[in-house]
Amino acid sequence: MIEDYKNIIKNFTALSKVPRGSGHNEKISAFLCGFAKDLGLSCTCDKELNVIIKKPAQNGGAGKPVVLQGHMDMVCVEEPGTGHDFINTGLDLIFEDEWVRANGTTLGGDDGIALAYMMSLLEDKEIKHPDLICIITTDEETGMYGAKALDAGVFEDASYLINMDSENEDECLSGCAGGLRIDGRIPVNRATANGRQLDITVKGLRGGHSGAEIHKGITNAVRLLARILEELKSFAGYTVLSLSGGEKDNAIPSFAKASLILDDGFDRSQIEGYLKDIEAKYRRREKSISITAEFKDETSALTCTKDSFENVLFALLALPNGVQALSPDIEGLVETSLNLGVFALNEDEAKFNISLRSSVLGEKEFLSGRVRRILEKAGGTGTENSEYPAWEYKPVSKLRDAYAKAFEKTHGIPVKFNVIHAGLECGLFAKMKPELDMISIGPEMHDIHSPKERLNLSSSISLYKTVEELLSTIE
Ligand SMILES: [Zn+2]
Repeated sequence: MIEDYKNIIKNFTALSKVPRGSGHNEKISAFLCGFAKDLGLSCTCDKELNVIIKKPAQNGGAGKPVVLQGHMDMVCVEEPGTGHDFINTGLDLIFEDEWVRANGTTLGGDDGIALAYMMSLLEDKEIKHPDLICIITTDEETGMYGAKALDAGVFEDASYLINMDSENEDECLSGCAGGLRIDGRIPVNRATANGRQLDITVKGLRGGHSGAEIHKGITNAVRLLARILEELKSFAGYTVLSLSGGEKDNAIPSFAKASLILDDGFDRSQIEGYLKDIEAKYRRREKSISITAEFKDETSALTCTKDSFENVLFALLALPNGVQALSPDIEGLVETSLNLGVFALNEDEAKFNISLRSSVLGEKEFLSGRVRRILEKAGGTGTENSEYPAWEYKPVSKLRDAYAKAFEKTHGIPVKFNVIHAGLECGLFAKMKPELDMISIGPEMHDIHSPKERLNLSSSISLYKTVEELLSTIE
């Protein structure tokens, strides 16, 4: 294991002993307040359990206060069979050379490292820095609920905010997309149908984050299955018993499945041949794709009537999906996109879960209107949920310039600035206090939100030194 610097590893280890899954912020919130009070610092905790700690300027630091910000909650995922009690038990950390991970579970480096940085800065009596306001929010991972409930007064007269919820050491973010989710519903009627049951499964697609990876041309399993059902109609009649795919709001579905009751007179080898052809067509972009057909016994079941399923299929085929616009300012940056993340055909309705993102004001609203028009045309409805605002890129930023200098001084190479096509709490802060000058940074972390999550400790230390340099030079 590598040598600690200013207690970063020690503080990260201490806070990892405190359970802090999203929705269970009580223990970590109390831990952070206790930590501040032991140092004699002012600490407040609001009704959402957001923690705000203030530390006065020291060693000649002057100017307006600087906000340091991160979120205290973490995604709780474990390897099958681990049986970790995330509510009552801390994490079992494993240190391997310059990496730390957790035994069988997510690590919560996202965003525990921000907390460790703040703890170390709060303890440090040596460095020069201006007034510091540490804002540690709750439930970022499930919908930024802590940040949404913050009182704009917490920023006081600060003009700079350093968000520490990113995961590439050599990259500094200076803008992010806003987003919203549309929950679509289309009613369906069912009637008894008799015939051979056919199950079609589409699996083995790459999947991926529906914001950060939407430009990669990843096939959406639900939309591919809709295409199959559309094309199948021309040579095999059927009604639909079930249809579903996708697991998460913010992921591109890698799996979808349909159960059909076939009308009499189908040609089994023709169906199998068609599925083989379409699998081969998509294998060019999805190397591990598998489209399988399982012919089952004759059965009798309540399936969607052809008329009502036609509405559902129309929406699945007509809805826009994927990248809608690229940024004219930043090469390769997706400006506007959407993704059907989860689809399920229930007893009396089809449910669509669609995530929209855009870094430009007004674009997601227009796209949302289009999606809702199509759902309505199909006899259904769409409602907007979980909206979060964009953090628009500012052409001029003193904080960005100061960070570029500090990074080059501590690393010997220039930092890369970027804007991401996903949400950050900074969007909410920009809305609360538009004049805030912000950056988002973080040390090297891999496989976040999965049990493989790991944090690089030497990166954590070298980036911390950049933060020290920034705080001691900022004006
Ligand atoms: Zn995070």
